[in-house]
Amino acid sequence: MTHIITEICLRDGGCAEVCPVECIIPGKPEEEWPLYYIDRDTCIDCGACVPECPWEAIFPEEDVPSAYVAKGIINVRGTDLPQRLNKPKGTPGFDQVYDGTNSRGESVHLEGTRILLKGEVVDLTPAIALNDAFFKEGPGYSAKD
Ligand code: SF4
Ligand code: SF4
Repeated sequence: MTHIITEICLRDGGCAEVCPVECIIPGKPEEEWPLYYIDRDTCIDCGACVPECPWEAIFPEEDVPSAYVAKGIINVRGTDLPQRLNKPKGTPGFDQVYDGTNSRGESVHLEGTRILLKGEVVDLTPAIALNDAFFKEGPGYSAKD
């Protein structure tokens, strides 16, 4: 089994810093691959990444929710911020810009997001295929360079 990063990831980056097998890769180009992605062939299912994610975006594969109930607001390092879904730039209905800061204090700029309202129900399971596609069809580990 593996862990999965879902589309509520806003590139905070803390997960990648704690992964003992370095199998979490920041997507590039960000317009096309806006999340961080986990390589299932290397992930040892340790769970260390889960508590590091302030957006609560990482799930064991078997627990990725098909009917996720949005919390609406998440407290990220002391600040209440709206939850968002994060898609490739140009995805219809996802035209809200997110400007934030990651775990290292660096700027994060995303152009394909949509704010999630409290109680809104969304299917996060498409992220399972997205994580795999990043390594099989996308840049995979070469995005690290
Ligand atoms: S810590 Fe969470 S928001 Fe940040 S890159 Fe990892 S999964 Fe995405
Ligand atoms: S579960 Fe462990 S091995 Fe898998 S991505 Fe998270 S930190 Fe890395």
